Amino acid sequence: MSCPSAIAAGPATLPVSPAEVEVAARRIAGRVVRTPLVASAALSRASGHPVFLKLETRQPIGAFKLRGAMNAVLALDEAARRRGLVTASTGNHGRALAHAAREAGVPAVVCMSALVPANKVEAVHALGAEVRIVGRSQDDAQAEVERLVSARGLTAIPPFDHPDVIAGQGTIGLEIVEDLPEVSAVLVPLSGGGLAGGVALAVKALRPSARVIGISMARGAAMAASLRAGHPVEVVEEDTLADSLGGGIGLSNRYSFALCRALLDEVVLLTEDEIAAGIRHAAEAEGEVVEGAGAVGIAALIGGKVSLDGPAALILSGRNIDETLHRRIVKETAV
Ligand SMILES: *Cc1c(COP(=O)(O)O)cnc(C)c1O
Repeated sequence: MSCPSAIAAGPATLPVSPAEVEVAARRIAGRVVRTPLVASAALSRASGHPVFLKLETRQPIGAFKLRGAMNAVLALDEAARRRGLVTASTGNHGRALAHAAREAGVPAVVCMSALVPANKVEAVHALGAEVRIVGRSQDDAQAEVERLVSARGLTAIPPFDHPDVIAGQGTIGLEIVEDLPEVSAVLVPLSGGGLAGGVALAVKALRPSARVIGISMARGAAMAASLRAGHPVEVVEEDTLADSLGGGIGLSNRYSFALCRALLDEVVLLTEDEIAAGIRHAAEAEGEVVEGAGAVGIAALIGGKVSLDGPAALILSGRNIDETLHRRIVKETAV
């Protein structure tokens, strides 16, 4: 018999526990949006099973990463809060950390190379973080992060391979099972695996029969290649519409790889055309602006890459897509 108030401890070998997700949920309650899970009439009709969309697009920075960043910031002790935070992410994690830090009254530095486009620099600056422009590559920016950690004692919070970040993302899984106790499949965008690992941790603890399916682009899917190899591997990064899913998982990955390996039932890879069709469907049939990474669940379903045997929840992970690109994808029948 399962106990509804406390979720069972996971297998002893997992590096993060379901109980940590529950702690995160209490910690970030009221600081992030408890997002709606809305029925999709079009996808339910097409798949023959009830399909629901988890709208992480409604978070203040337009993506779920606020959950993990907020949990990590609030977990810091007083001394670490005073010294502040640092990251080199210019994407959704950088924005999330800047927003969470400002909300919590903690100083944050985001290191970027001189090649980062002005609109990205401005977006992070507008969220109240100090922007440091250093060097001409992401590696230069990361080196500056490490320098600030040792020189000024700042705390670096990585985008996915961190227990508090993973537990924060996992709160999405808790909310899905709360709102849809009979869920039989959860479709999760997959890059570094903080989101998929955390969500799977929560979903499997509360509803062990539910499948959790990770979805990436076929172009440069580092977690998929690592799961196949049985250990973290590097892949060549390529341009993709799902740009938030790009990047490696880190050769010395400590948490997210083990969770994904233990808990994901399946990993599905998508072509660029399939991702474009997902973005288009979200706009036309669901009235939702989503970025490529946020559209992969819809894309997998309408592309016939996932088959359902009961109610499904699709995580729409973010909405931060260039407007011109979005308009072009929605208008055209092919990209
Ligand atoms: C970061 C991100 C993901 C992937 O999350 P991981 O924890 O790296 O797997 C998916 N969608 C969006 C919009 C993101 O910003």
